[in-house]
Amino acid sequence: MPNAQQTYDLLVRELKEIALLGSVGSVLGWDERTQLPPKGTDHRAAQSSLLARMVHERFTSPRIGDWLGEIESSSLVTDRESDAAANVRETRRKYERARKLPASLVEEQSRVAVLAQQAWGEARKKSDYPSFAPWLSKTLKLKRQEARCIGYAAEMYDALLDEFEPGETAANLRKTFEQLRGPLVELIGKIAHSGRAAPIEILERNYPPEAQAKLAREAAEAVGFDFQAGRLDVSLHPFCSGIGPGDTRMTTRYDPRYFGDAFFGVLHETGHGLYDQGLPATHFGTPCGEAVSLGIHESQSRMWENFVGRSRSFWKTFLPKAKSAFGQTLKDVSEDQWYFAINDVRPSFIRTEADEATYNLHVLLRFELERALLNNELPVADLPAAWTQKMQQYLGITPPDDARGCLQDIHWSGGAIGYFPTYTLGNLYAAQFFEQVAKDLGDLDAQLARGEFSPLLGWLRHHIHRHGMRYRAAELAKRVTGRELSAEPLLRHLGRKGEMYGAT
Ligand code: ZN
Repeated sequence: MPNAQQTYDLLVRELKEIALLGSVGSVLGWDERTQLPPKGTDHRAAQSSLLARMVHERFTSPRIGDWLGEIESSSLVTDRESDAAANVRETRRKYERARKLPASLVEEQSRVAVLAQQAWGEARKKSDYPSFAPWLSKTLKLKRQEARCIGYAAEMYDALLDEFEPGETAANLRKTFEQLRGPLVELIGKIAHSGRAAPIEILERNYPPEAQAKLAREAAEAVGFDFQAGRLDVSLHPFCSGIGPGDTRMTTRYDPRYFGDAFFGVLHETGHGLYDQGLPATHFGTPCGEAVSLGIHESQSRMWENFVGRSRSFWKTFLPKAKSAFGQTLKDVSEDQWYFAINDVRPSFIRTEADEATYNLHVLLRFELERALLNNELPVADLPAAWTQKMQQYLGITPPDDARGCLQDIHWSGGAIGYFPTYTLGNLYAAQFFEQVAKDLGDLDAQLARGEFSPLLGWLRHHIHRHGMRYRAAELAKRVTGRELSAEPLLRHLGRKGEMYGAT
């Protein structure tokens, strides 16, 4: 009979091998989105699905369950903050999720997702919601089945949310989001009626892609992204993939007539990348070497993109660099104008183009609607009307068609329900962490103005990155900031944008 320590070592060795196999899939995925010739897609799909099946089979093997059971009844997990306890707790969670879903359901879901995404693409092009509605109904039906297989205490949504945000619940999210919603709707309304407008036309001038790429790379490097352990490439849809220790790859795209997309996009992906680069390499393949949740991952990207990248201090050193990079383009632009332009707030239809403040209302709307759809409280046929009503209520605007309304996002067609809230959770966590780091470091603003980013990165490494999944998101926030997650820090942060509009 092996003892619990030997069994734990076996488990860790197996998890690491499974993760290695999975990371081979990540390389293929990166290649698919940046390099693959169009005719190679079928062959790539075959490679990727074979790998995914191998990973799934090894991870759901009954011996993993036996090993977990043995370790769970040993003293190895007594200290619940130990590596072993965290690794066993999170591996158990994932194992149960993977085991409880019958292969037939998983296959049906991926079959329907492919067809639903095709239908969604066509429907969006023609702004024809009725042609997508049956696919949304099918998807929801399968998601309800999934939730019932996995099990839940309060409501089905919790079972789906748990995949992205372990331990979070719909009821808790609703409480926090509701703290945010009223004051945010009021702030955005005041800004919209302030009679002032940010000079966003200065962001829509001539920005040669080569100069953009150079400046964005310089910013990523300055804040601490290690290019010996990562890359920046071009892809249609920007992403960051943490392939493994020493290999974090991010992408962006350049619009020669718009500054914001690439620069802030790169800072965003850099935030994800810094988290991946800060995860402990020795724990690769086990939960202690993985990110806590999508919400915490997003808190890192949003912090560098918005709290650092849109601060006045950051541009003390970067506006002179931008001016020399773009020559005539920025010759007449003052620091005040630049700061106002990059902090523009205005209601708009498309989530991915929304500013930092209104963005959250796009997310709240989706959370409320997807939860109602899943619970059968909102008939699929009534989605466009419900969408319009909320857009009017929250942002004071009416989408001209469904393409710019409920058909704009790919998420639901792919079966991603319970995903949207992680974006706003990211903003909430970022704001609360950022208030804490400012308190702890004392002169964060002055450091940022001098272009010194290592104290901030060091703080994130110490308080967040090095722990991997040791603590769940809510617990991590409480440990790091001494408080439960609250909407107040984000409201304070966004309130400062209101000041530019005289709307406080
Ligand atoms: Zn992100």
